[in-house]
Amino acid sequence: MQSQIDVLNKQVRALDENIADKESQVAAKQAEIDSDYDQLKKRLHAIYLTGEASTLEIIFHSKNIMDLSDKIEVIRAISTHDANLINSLKSELQSVQSQKAEIEANRKNISQDRAALDTKKSEVNSLLSETNTVIAELAKDEASAEDEGEKIAAERSKINAAIDQWYEDYYSSGKSTGGSGGYVSKGDFTWPVPGVYNITSGYGWRNIGYGNEFHKGIDIASAGVFGKPIVAADSGRVIMAGYGNYGTGYGGYGNVVVIDHGGGFSTLYGHCSKVAVRAGTNVKKGQVIAYVGSSGQATGPHLHFEIRVNGAAKDPMNWFK
Ligand SMILES: [Zn+2]
Repeated sequence: MQSQIDVLNKQVRALDENIADKESQVAAKQAEIDSDYDQLKKRLHAIYLTGEASTLEIIFHSKNIMDLSDKIEVIRAISTHDANLINSLKSELQSVQSQKAEIEANRKNISQDRAALDTKKSEVNSLLSETNTVIAELAKDEASAEDEGEKIAAERSKINAAIDQWYEDYYSSGKSTGGSGGYVSKGDFTWPVPGVYNITSGYGWRNIGYGNEFHKGIDIASAGVFGKPIVAADSGRVIMAGYGNYGTGYGGYGNVVVIDHGGGFSTLYGHCSKVAVRAGTNVKKGQVIAYVGSSGQATGPHLHFEIRVNGAAKDPMNWFK
């Protein structure tokens, strides 16, 4: 676009120079014609004296035949010369006319080129303003995305702290006394999603786009994992089953099941599509307690599985070696 405008500008400048040239040429020619015409008038005046005498009168007023023949000769010579002068004046006038026409045509071309240039300029300007609008919008989006990201990160760290508080309260309030229904786990666990052993996110520090955060469990997932049965990793009593509302300590976990296995052990199963047990009921190791889903803060279907010892999250893989 810019190079097209440059080319047009150059063309317009060249045409302007061309017109100036032509105009000065025409002016010079006009001056030449004017002086030729003056000469012609003077000569005619000299011949006819008053400017009214005809050739015939000159002939009649001749003194003698020699005078007459001289005069005729002079008249003929002057007439021929004048005819030539008149002809050359005529053709010069014609050339001036055609040059003037050419200049007019060039003027028209230039004004058309100027109009085209103006159109291009306004096109460029509207493109520029469009681009600026888009850039401004992008900057705004970026700023609001950053704000959103910070909000989510803050929310996630709050949720992370809330679940630990829940366990602390659970074990300090004495609720855990007999919380397992009398069963005492020795920490011998079975894999919670039979047939699916793929871990998409391990235990520990990670950054999945919300800043550094501590992942308190493992994520188990594979293609077609949605709806697969989740089994109790060990026997015990269900102490939480249902949707984890924010403010309860289970916010973000979606449909969640927690089992107290006794002996300080507990397991947590998050983001389930459905839970199959009720809080307060006893379950056997390997019993179906829920189904894999993506409820709560989950980007896709998986089981978020935690093993806790006296309420503190540990790496579940320590028990699966
Ligand atoms: Zn997880």
